[in-house]
Amino acid sequence: MRMLLGGQWVERQSTIEVRDPYDGSLVDTVPAATRKDVDAAFGHALRGFETTRKMTVGERSQVLLRTAELVRNNLEDFARLIAREGSKTIREARKEIARSVNTLTISAEEAKRVLGETIPFDSFPGGESRRGFYYRFPIGVVLAITPFNDPLNLVAHKLGPAFAAGNSVVLKPATVTPLSALKLAEAFLEAGLPPLALQVITGSGSEIGDLLVQDERARMISFTGGVETGERIARLAGIKKLGMELGSNSPVIVWRDADLDRAVESCVSGAFWAAGQNCLGVQRIYVHEAIYGVFRDAFVERTSKYRIGDKLSEETDMGPMISEGEARRVEDWIEEGVKLGARVLTGGKRKGTLLEPTVLENVPVETKLHREEVFGPTVNLYPVSDLDEALQKANSLPYGLHAAIFTQDVETAFRAAYELDCGGVMINDSTDYRLDSMPFGGVKSSGLGREGVKFALQEMTEPKVVSFLLRSTRS
Ligand code: NAD
Repeated sequence: MRMLLGGQWVERQSTIEVRDPYDGSLVDTVPAATRKDVDAAFGHALRGFETTRKMTVGERSQVLLRTAELVRNNLEDFARLIAREGSKTIREARKEIARSVNTLTISAEEAKRVLGETIPFDSFPGGESRRGFYYRFPIGVVLAITPFNDPLNLVAHKLGPAFAAGNSVVLKPATVTPLSALKLAEAFLEAGLPPLALQVITGSGSEIGDLLVQDERARMISFTGGVETGERIARLAGIKKLGMELGSNSPVIVWRDADLDRAVESCVSGAFWAAGQNCLGVQRIYVHEAIYGVFRDAFVERTSKYRIGDKLSEETDMGPMISEGEARRVEDWIEEGVKLGARVLTGGKRKGTLLEPTVLENVPVETKLHREEVFGPTVNLYPVSDLDEALQKANSLPYGLHAAIFTQDVETAFRAAYELDCGGVMINDSTDYRLDSMPFGGVKSSGLGREGVKFALQEMTEPKVVSFLLRSTRS
């Protein structure tokens, strides 16, 4: 596919191969953007902003609705593309597309709810003759940088609110999964988005990333990706707004009064969705000691039934990791864990990019498997004896995207909801739940700001005050 620059689909001599991580087959190639392309992209985007800022709310909303419709009408094409360029199975891919349609539809609706307020200027002496209000205006050019694991919906979470607000966008999708983003850009243009409103730059983050984030023409960087990349971007960005949706290491507490079938089903899915390459993936499960054995056996049994392999097969539950390098990394982490005393209850073996869904116990706190974001198909089980201990252990790492608890007791649920340090607490659900209109984001190293269309729209607009100084105080 080509990249989108200045309203044209352009090629470059140097290209990047997009390969299916399951069998290594070539899916497509995309241009490797040059430094000149980055410069041109911001030039076009600035001109694009002159058009988007003048679009009426109705026009923005219509473009978003038509794009949603086009994505819905091409669901199977999008699904195959997601399932080929990335790690997701065809069934997982279809779910992502349904959510992307929601994200775009919510954006069309929220475009109409960008509101201001009147200001009581007469609250203090000296303001008696003033009347006025504020309204939210688009921020300008938004630089959007997205990761590989949700190659469509996380792009929709940037483009939807940005266009709803009246901004223009320079988008750099993940190097390894740029195709779904390019296909979404095609849909936007077909839906009537002004041609200069969106530039899609394909290329390696390590090569053009610094140049992109340092460009002063971007007013905001909306980034989703790893903590390390986020930190680098924050250091280099200069005076710009930052939206940071970063990684995590999500804890779940399974209390002694939990509905066990529900907890097992939900946590297995939450741990192995997209082969564990999921910012909300369940990584640590703290189980009350009274039910630990029963929960562990049921969890292991459910996991061992997982069918892994060909992403395009309707039967497959879990596909490969994004690359052999990533699968090896997780395999090494498992080896390190085992050396230090962890026990593999099921899984643990790797063939190429396919790593078995792996359940461990006795995982020491000094291991990477415990401390860091694994972003792979492994999950650790730990017995705990009281709620203080469970909450303290759940909160013990420098991440905080989602946390979860399974319990039938409302007091226990409320305590957990108030005391877990994170952006969202799921009760009787795994951490892997997100509605595309809810505020979404993390505390601690997991991020800065919130997405979920309405909340991203706030971040992507700026209030402007209008004050009328009148001759008479009586008007
Ligand atoms: P990554 O940080 O390696 O890459 C993310 C994006 O940043 C890619 O487009 C990449 O090309 C680009 N990039 C790389 N180096 C850059 C640089 N120096 N300057 C600018 N851009 C650069 O992440 P990934 O491996 O694609 O995705 C996995 C990570 O994303 C995990 O940590 C996961 O938790 C996180 N994630 C977070 C959320 C969330 O909403 N909080 C959602 C999905 C994924």
